[in-house]
Amino acid sequence: MLDAPPAKPTTSPAQKALLKLGLRRDIDLALHLPLRYEDETRIVRLADVREGDTVQIEATVTACEVSFRPRRQLLVTVDDGSDTCLLRFFSFYPSQQKALAVGARIRARGEVRGGFGGLTMMHPSFRAAGGELPTALTPVYPTVAGLPQAYLRKAVLGALAHADLSDTLPAPELPGSSGNSSKISLQPLWSLRESLSFLHHPAPDVALATLEDHSHPAWQRLKAEELLAQQLSQLQAKRAREHLRAPALRPRRGGLHEKLLAVLPFALTGAQCRVSEEIARDLAQPAPMHRLLQGDVGSGKTVVAALAAAICIDAGWQCALMAPTEILAEQHFRKLIGWLEPLLAPLGLRTAWLTGSQKAKERREMLALIESGEAALVIGTHAVIQDKVVFKRLALAIIDEQHRFGVAQRLALRSKMTADAQEPHLLMMTATPIPRTLAMSYYADLEVSTLDELPPGRTPVVTKLVHESRRDEVIERIRAQLAQGRQVYWVCPLIEESEALDLVNATQTHAALSEALAGARMNGGKATMVGLLHSRMPAAEKRAVMALFTGGQMGVLVSTTVIEVGVDVPNASLMVIEHAERFGLSQLHQLRGRVGRGAAASACVLLYSTGEAPRLGETARARLKAMVETGDGFEIARRDLEIRGPGEFLGARQSGAPLLRFADLALDADLLDWARQLAPQMLDQHPELAEKHVQRWLGGRAEYLKA
Ligand code: ADP
Ligand code: MG
Repeated sequence: MLDAPPAKPTTSPAQKALLKLGLRRDIDLALHLPLRYEDETRIVRLADVREGDTVQIEATVTACEVSFRPRRQLLVTVDDGSDTCLLRFFSFYPSQQKALAVGARIRARGEVRGGFGGLTMMHPSFRAAGGELPTALTPVYPTVAGLPQAYLRKAVLGALAHADLSDTLPAPELPGSSGNSSKISLQPLWSLRESLSFLHHPAPDVALATLEDHSHPAWQRLKAEELLAQQLSQLQAKRAREHLRAPALRPRRGGLHEKLLAVLPFALTGAQCRVSEEIARDLAQPAPMHRLLQGDVGSGKTVVAALAAAICIDAGWQCALMAPTEILAEQHFRKLIGWLEPLLAPLGLRTAWLTGSQKAKERREMLALIESGEAALVIGTHAVIQDKVVFKRLALAIIDEQHRFGVAQRLALRSKMTADAQEPHLLMMTATPIPRTLAMSYYADLEVSTLDELPPGRTPVVTKLVHESRRDEVIERIRAQLAQGRQVYWVCPLIEESEALDLVNATQTHAALSEALAGARMNGGKATMVGLLHSRMPAAEKRAVMALFTGGQMGVLVSTTVIEVGVDVPNASLMVIEHAERFGLSQLHQLRGRVGRGAAASACVLLYSTGEAPRLGETARARLKAMVETGDGFEIARRDLEIRGPGEFLGARQSGAPLLRFADLALDADLLDWARQLAPQMLDQHPELAEKHVQRWLGGRAEYLKA
């Protein structure tokens, strides 16, 4: 007898849509919580309806006609014995028209409007009258096209019945319960099962406000669970890393590290010393470092990176330094080369440089140097993590402006370490400090070092808001700066929709400024040059322009945001940002950080325009206000988080990783504290429960959080 061929699994569009929402398992569906609710538990008499109420009525159709004025619409009059109401539909199927024939008795639900002609409802939902009324509020779920509410409701209902909802929290640890060892007292939490069945089908007498603002005990329970899952998964990742092996890199007496310190043209700041020691301590461990170095623009992160690189190279290993843009990589290259190359050469070691725009021949040479191990220091852009790049002995990877890189790229860099199943140490640097609550939640698996002190001799940058109409005054100001031998940046905005427009804009500004400044003189008579830099220029041309500006032969650099990060020209004392209202807050702050790096008094002019609108939008105003009011990177970051919310703030780190869905870091700080205290205890004392909890909440997605 032949076996029947296995039935092909068929996937309906609705099932596909479920998968698209990430709703694979019963528990995923059970944790897919309603956005809001509809009250279908009651029938309201039309005579009792107040305007603006969303109600359910039961009534008989007394008239039904299609009208064509002012546009095609179906007008249905219904009467429930207490009053009448007009139902209006602008789009309708013949089948619906039939169901609304005169004499039909229907149950309709919608928002009631008053008016001249009496009560009306626009596009109410409706069905035939009769049937039992539900006893709970009807949930409305977040959904996507192709996944009707009714299907989703049924799927959730089924999943709730099947899912394993047993408690994963060790009983005495529930916040608010007696015997709770933590000092935090929260209102007693409901069990997970109770909370979920309630949130999917709340009793009609619940105070809706407590569901909407998530303060209801059932919501508290879910938020606590979610935060705990996040803390547990990050702690798991951290502990897993502690079991991995990495080369222990110890600085030698009289080694490269000390030699570098001796040739630096300045003494380290206290903060740089402290942070360098923190990093050195990590590098000396046989487990991979996973450290974030945060420090405001200009705080001197590059030299800290160079010192770490020196320790690594001195121990006989390779170090890779990756930057998001070619210009920035180039700057690192120049600085680090200037410091390190004279020290490396006597040891027979070299520096390699990798970018996307490199000539094939040069690239091949570089790849060979890296593979043979002759290149001890490798600097570049994303090109560093491409498959073709094979390191002989990579032990330290440094990523500058880490938020510009995605999770996948960071994972790729870690996998570059092939020697004896070891991993490289990872140092991530950022000029966008992470506010405390975010550091405690999303970055709980990282060690954080902070450069909280700027090198001496900096002058605070004065920030001015100037309306577009006063452009001429700004140009006068540029002239004055040039006359004193100072240099100026002029940044044109990125135009989201079109890179081409972007370019036109920068080119026009460049032409206009060249003309306006034609007579200006710099450095006692040498002709002033206004240069242009934009992202579409060939790399060699970019380098040439940057070299002129860095060398002081160019007075004004007009550019798109390519100079955003890391460029260092201490003689520049004025930064003009055109259409400042279009920039993000941290971007503005980074741009401003390009000036105030030398001894001269520096200024940042935020040129803004309101376009057609009478005034700026609310968030644009909040951003510009923050810029004028503070120069402190931490304060800027805090305000930025406030303005944008964590989703956008986190950017690339979270691509693919789940953001908090229910908890709100600003409002649920006490729950976060509770979760932070409980997570290590739970991992130690109830590892199986911890694992079950993480699986339940994050499923297969926890992997991503490890990068
Ligand atoms: P960022 O943290 O923005 O990357 P950089 O590393 O580019 O800052 O440093 C900014 C400038 O400060 C550079 O010109 C650098 O050489 C200089 N610098 C760094 N550390 C010190 C210090 N301790 N004393 C004086 N100047 C320093
Ligand atoms: Mg930098």
